[in-house]
Amino acid sequence: MADGPTQQRQNGRRWVTLILMGILLAFVLSRLLAFNPSQRTIPYSQFLQLVRAGQVEQVKISAEQVNGVYRQGGKRFDFVSTRPPGVDDAALLEELQAHKVEFSGSRPSGFGRALTTVLGWLLPLLLLFALWGFFFRRMGAGAGAISFGRAKAKIVNREDLHTSFADVAGVDEAVDELKEVVDFLRNPERYRRLGGRIPKGVLLVGAPGTGKTLLARAVAGEASVPFFYLSGSDFVELFVGMGAARVRDLFEQAKAKAPCIVFIDELDTIGRSRAGAMAGGLGGSEEREQTLNQLLSEMDGFDPTAGVIIMAATNRPEVLDPALLRPGRFDRHVVVDRPDRRGRAAILRVHVRGVKLAEDVDLDVLAARTPGFAGAELANVVNEAALLAARRGKDAVGMAELEEAIDRVSIGLERKSRVLTEPERERVAYHELGHALVALALPHADPVHRVSIVPRGIAALGMTQQLPADDRYLITQPELEDRLAVMMGGRAAERLVYGELSTGALSDLREATLLARRMVEEFGMSEQIGPVALARGPLFLPTDGGRPEILSPELAAMVDAEVRRLLEAAEERAARTLAERRSDLDGLAQLLLERETLEGEELKAALAASPLETVPGKAV
Ligand code: ADP
Ligand code: MG
Ligand code: ZN
Repeated sequence: MADGPTQQRQNGRRWVTLILMGILLAFVLSRLLAFNPSQRTIPYSQFLQLVRAGQVEQVKISAEQVNGVYRQGGKRFDFVSTRPPGVDDAALLEELQAHKVEFSGSRPSGFGRALTTVLGWLLPLLLLFALWGFFFRRMGAGAGAISFGRAKAKIVNREDLHTSFADVAGVDEAVDELKEVVDFLRNPERYRRLGGRIPKGVLLVGAPGTGKTLLARAVAGEASVPFFYLSGSDFVELFVGMGAARVRDLFEQAKAKAPCIVFIDELDTIGRSRAGAMAGGLGGSEEREQTLNQLLSEMDGFDPTAGVIIMAATNRPEVLDPALLRPGRFDRHVVVDRPDRRGRAAILRVHVRGVKLAEDVDLDVLAARTPGFAGAELANVVNEAALLAARRGKDAVGMAELEEAIDRVSIGLERKSRVLTEPERERVAYHELGHALVALALPHADPVHRVSIVPRGIAALGMTQQLPADDRYLITQPELEDRLAVMMGGRAAERLVYGELSTGALSDLREATLLARRMVEEFGMSEQIGPVALARGPLFLPTDGGRPEILSPELAAMVDAEVRRLLEAAEERAARTLAERRSDLDGLAQLLLERETLEGEELKAALAASPLETVPGKAV
């Protein structure tokens, strides 16, 4: 992106410089024009003497000076003489008349002198302004006099947007979601006619380098509309209120350019939860809060059919203020996942388009070697390999360079992105399949949508997705019990296969414990405790399992025992279910290790191929 805030600022500075130069030039020119080398400056007394001697031919009189022509020794001289202040004009005129001098008045001096006077005032002032502006810009971006509150949005021209969906690979679900947005921007009439409401805000969520910024650019490129690009940190300013002013300004500009896309990158820098921000520090959090409030009210304020679509990206959705995610704001969430093996191969294919490859290069092999890599890392691999090949004087990039580039990138990134060792991957595969197989086997569990061992998010090394994940208003006790068993499935599988546990089940256990506790305390699903609601959680916020009520020690102990009983029963069921399907578990683990992601359908197909083997009576 060539056009940017720096560019704008530079333009501003260039203007100031130009104007200053112009004024200086005019000043010098006028001086030069007014300068007459043959003109003599003479004292007023000498002028009077010359008049009296009859040597003066003509004069022009102004309030401050007298100039004219006098003769001396047969030659004519231009002269100028400054009049003493308060000298009597009448006396001078009489004297001139008496000596037959041709005289006329003149406006208070010429253009040059006027300019000099004005400039005498203006120049220092202008210089001051220039210096002031310069230092303010130095202190904090946008704090300068001229750019107060101006949005620093980079406005990318249509012509400069060459990014299209063809440049994005491996994140097909996200692309599909965004195609609708493009369609709206292309044919807004069609949606408006039917009264359809396109989402105002689309939030792209995903790990760093997975292509969120790229996707936003692709949307703008495909829809060929103006694209305002801002980073959240552009709003975070030195002075309170600046960020808010900037948001206001941005929306004004955007409305004027509709249809268009406003893209706020790194939304978490301004959209941090206001509750959490309190702990964040002094003035900073207040400023952020003002900016956030302004953003919220602007998003509420504009007409959804106007054709302004706000896109934002974050890799920390969990810190965002819940108000941002409400309907009418960023209500559409597009998850941009780390790519699986097929996705990585596709991304590599995109990035080798402009690279000369040797015969031996197999992108699928490279994709298999790069679990956990995001798009940015893969792009980096291709680039590193090209540099290596150039350094070695080769005329094509070969497998050797690509393999070496992978090592460079992964060692360089070791701390950043998790690249699992082989034994770890295997363990994660068994763990996730433990969840999946239990879910498939139990009658009331939600169907399995996908199993994956691509590390993602903050803590997950793999995941098992079930659909429908949420949006249920009534859940029955058997369903909850199956849910508990599915949560225990990962742990049970690890114990079954390795005979030992790992730290991988941490969040499963937390979730399961929370659910079991709610079953006992809130849903009255324990025979022992009976139909009593023991805990009253907050109504509109998700409970964190905190217990506001104070229970008697006996009752608390009973509750704990009941929770434990539910969890133990769930683990027992999971372990039994998996023990019965041990060979399925092993077969699927091999498949998952190879493919990294298995869709629900693929899982079922694989299971159907190997008929379910049951080992009766061998329950653990
Ligand atoms: P994010 O905004 O999610 O942190 P970016 O969009 O800035 O990531 O990605 C950085 C670069 O990595 C992109 O410019 C592109 O070259 C490459 N890249 C990332 N994801 C993909 C992808 N899915 N397909 C192709 N290239 C990608
Ligand atoms: Mg980005
Ligand atoms: Zn798990």
